[in-house]
Amino acid sequence: MPSSYAKELEVAQLAVQRAAILTKRVFHNSAKGTVSKDDASPVTVGDFGAQALIIAALQANFPDDEIVAEEESDTLRSNAALRDQIWDLVRTTALDDAAAEALLGGAVKDADAMLDLIGRGNSRGGAAGRIWAIDPIDGTKGFLRGGQYAVCLALMVDGDVKVGVLGCPNLPVDDAAPLTADIGTDQTDEGSSRGVIFSAVQGQGASSRPLGTGALAEGKRIAMKPITEMAAASFCESVEAGHSNQGESAQIAQKLGITRPSVRMDSQAKYGSIARGAGDIYLRLPTSKTYQEKIWDHAAGDLIVREAGGQVTDTTGSRLDFSVGRTLAANRGVIAAPAVVHGQVLKAVQEVLGLASS
Ligand code: AMP
Ligand code: MG
Repeated sequence: MPSSYAKELEVAQLAVQRAAILTKRVFHNSAKGTVSKDDASPVTVGDFGAQALIIAALQANFPDDEIVAEEESDTLRSNAALRDQIWDLVRTTALDDAAAEALLGGAVKDADAMLDLIGRGNSRGGAAGRIWAIDPIDGTKGFLRGGQYAVCLALMVDGDVKVGVLGCPNLPVDDAAPLTADIGTDQTDEGSSRGVIFSAVQGQGASSRPLGTGALAEGKRIAMKPITEMAAASFCESVEAGHSNQGESAQIAQKLGITRPSVRMDSQAKYGSIARGAGDIYLRLPTSKTYQEKIWDHAAGDLIVREAGGQVTDTTGSRLDFSVGRTLAANRGVIAAPAVVHGQVLKAVQEVLGLASS
């Protein structure tokens, strides 16, 4: 059945916008309520609060949909102080447009309801039905460092990404602003020149609009930059050396004749930045044999880049497969580039990584 996904897109963008109000409040607090997860990665009250608000909006509009979200509610059930801190944020965060807030279902009832909402993000994912993927704060390490981060939401239907939304509070609103080397450090969301929402619906192109606090601002179509000369291309990668092999990416850039140093920034802000032509190529090269990429780290960005004229594959040249569970278990790494040069980039990646060219 054909569908325009208009309601899903509107709810998703407003949900991301509301959650970003909360993350921005936490971003400006020197104490971010950070706790360590089982895998030793950090999580803040902002992650939990944003996840609760997004799931509340989905629950109000699409109660039968499944949800794969990054954070779990278990630690909060045994940590009342942390729960209360999050609840304080959640109960005091709302869009300042009454109709938009009402569309998202309004306020969460109480702290217990909030915990239940956070816990609803435990779907196993898979190839059947409607499943939302949420990363409430992607790039938590960047968020803590004062760099880039993103509030990420995507809808998959039968394993295929149909709607993708990224809220990037610390990126310039201006799609034409070139990427500077400092984009990933010492960033702020202050002033009206920062904060952008990227969105896409399958088959309908990709857009950007200013990240606001009420009704949605007007959007503009975005497209990747046509690369005329590979030597002048700019490529993005993680700030965290443990998330992507920076030595190999430097070799790949050299092989392609790229002379500019890589632009390092946290989160799916990388996907948004190349989709609007501020950068050109995003490389994510495995640093371990066992790590499986998480679907919430890629679903929205994958669609936004492809709808902006890009191609996204792993290092073997296969499309990212969101149908196999909570992780991209069938893929290794990520290569995102304008469709016309993706093959050339893939070849360079495979030569440097010593993979047989397909
Ligand atoms: P980025 O900001 O692009 O470096 O990506 C942040 C995401 O990297 C986090 O949300 C984690 O889920 C993910 N991550 C954690 N460990 C690894 C790893 N070893 N390799 C790749 N990604 C990772
Ligand atoms: Mg993440």
